[in-house]
Amino acid sequence: MKRKFAIISLTSCSGCISSLISLDIFPQFLERTKVIYFQFISDVMDIEDCDVCLIEGCVSEDDQIPILRKIRKQAKKIYALGTCACFGGILSLSDIKMTEPISRYIEIDGIIPGCPPPMKLFGNCLIRLVENKEIELSEKNMCGSCPLRGNMEINSNINISKITPNPEEIKLDEENSECFLAKGILCLGPIIRDGCEHMCIKMGLPCEGCIGPVSKDFTSNLVNYLSLINLSEELKNYTGIFYRFSKPKLEG
Ligand code: SF4
Ligand code: SF4
Repeated sequence: MKRKFAIISLTSCSGCISSLISLDIFPQFLERTKVIYFQFISDVMDIEDCDVCLIEGCVSEDDQIPILRKIRKQAKKIYALGTCACFGGILSLSDIKMTEPISRYIEIDGIIPGCPPPMKLFGNCLIRLVENKEIELSEKNMCGSCPLRGNMEINSNINISKITPNPEEIKLDEENSECFLAKGILCLGPIIRDGCEHMCIKMGLPCEGCIGPVSKDFTSNLVNYLSLINLSEELKNYTGIFYRFSKPKLEG
């Protein structure tokens, strides 16, 4: 029997949904499942019981909370789709809106991270859900398989004063292929989960961490990492490092 899917959007740019629709396996996904709720392709208003619910976007409005709780009762499995739903996302930078990951309000069964989730990872996750299997994400960090890794070891002698490369540093070639940290540029690869195939790094840009941490809380991982290197005074005060993709975990 076809598994029933619901796909829900909360506060977001809809980038994860655009990526979903752009997946080469999306037509196959529609054929192999019964999509009972998906505002982008159907005008069905009520969410019925379903096997899997994918939720995109963060929680930013009070009236989203009862919707989430209702879905929790109706869906056998719920997965946070994209970095906003998983960790709070780019809206965590806002000091006007309170934004939270969905796990702040309901228990979830897993995450499909990324801003938006990288195509290969997304496709693999979706196929596993269609086949009633759990999502598998890498437990390794970005550096382990990074093409720029070299012999770089993290220590307090590493002086970091930039978050973006100069234009001449962006093009990676034989003469410019060392780890960003060696060039004094902050790269979050050491604490970030492998899985995007080093998308930004291959384009000459350091990892900003959109796919989230390998384990535990984003902010505590980041604080630990930054305490190991020698960050310039200016960057110590740049809160965008901390809140670019994640809201710090709230207790209680
Ligand atoms: S810090 Fe960044 S550039 Fe350096 S090895 Fe890790 S992921 Fe690659
Ligand atoms: S390199 Fe980092 S910021 Fe870029 S896509 Fe991968 S996880 Fe996201």
